[in-house]
Amino acid sequence: MTHIPGIHHVTAICGNAQANVDFYTGVLQQRLVKKTVNFDAPDTYHLYYGDHVGSPGTILTFFPFAGAAPGRAGPGMASAYAYSVPVAAFDEWLDRAGALEDRVRVVERFDARVLTLHDADGAPVELVEDDGVTASGGGFHSVTLWERDIAPTARLLTDVFGYVEAGHETSDGVERLRLKAPGDAVGNVVDIICSNAVVQARSGAGTIHHVAFRARNDAEQLAWIDRLATAGHRTTPVIDRQYFKAIYFREPGGVLFEIATDNPGFAVDEPVETLGQALMLPAQHEPLRAQLERVLPRLRVA
Ligand code: ZN
Repeated sequence: MTHIPGIHHVTAICGNAQANVDFYTGVLQQRLVKKTVNFDAPDTYHLYYGDHVGSPGTILTFFPFAGAAPGRAGPGMASAYAYSVPVAAFDEWLDRAGALEDRVRVVERFDARVLTLHDADGAPVELVEDDGVTASGGGFHSVTLWERDIAPTARLLTDVFGYVEAGHETSDGVERLRLKAPGDAVGNVVDIICSNAVVQARSGAGTIHHVAFRARNDAEQLAWIDRLATAGHRTTPVIDRQYFKAIYFREPGGVLFEIATDNPGFAVDEPVETLGQALMLPAQHEPLRAQLERVLPRLRVA
């Protein structure tokens, strides 16, 4: 059995959809690769950002809820996603950060600089200086899971997913364990943190809903269902999400995990050249198109 190569996507909740588009396509220069609806609540958008083709490991998705109450990250929740940035680009980001942030936050983490920006809902967006990245848009570096107890989640990642421990450090009362998937896939790092601060996590705008890991194909995904069952984790059945197939389960600390297939990808229903421009609906929601186009706000892409 193979290992998990890395993150497939991260899904978060935001408030105003246009402000979200402005930040991720304008400031962060991500491409809106899919404009569709929340398949479980089709009167709201589901927006996907990524690299030019929406490669696994570059995809950040949002459920926008206008007027959503702000949430708060805490134990049992993924608390941050980080993008890899080449060293030269990192310095350019530092120059720009003063215009974007009230206070520029740069820390040293495992010998690399990390700059934290904030999106329109105040969600932290980490940029990690990464020598290994040559392209201007590197995709994800990592995701951070905030846990009450690091060990049970770490065991799932090492014993079942095949990650290996890659570092441990404590600063400002936050203990951080770094785990890395074998290979050099984009987004192959998971950090697990544990803080002595007393915080109650609250889902809402600016928080992460779930973290999806990669299965390279359908057969691998089915094998993960069995492997997770053997390890005591019961998953949902396979759910068709149009651009990938998904299974879900809660990891021991409470974070919702998904395993999503690389196939078929975002060009399955529109050409790569025009990804994200038209509202794409799965067959079951196509009869609602006229009604949805009336209620969903028009979005302008930077
Ligand atoms: Zn997902």
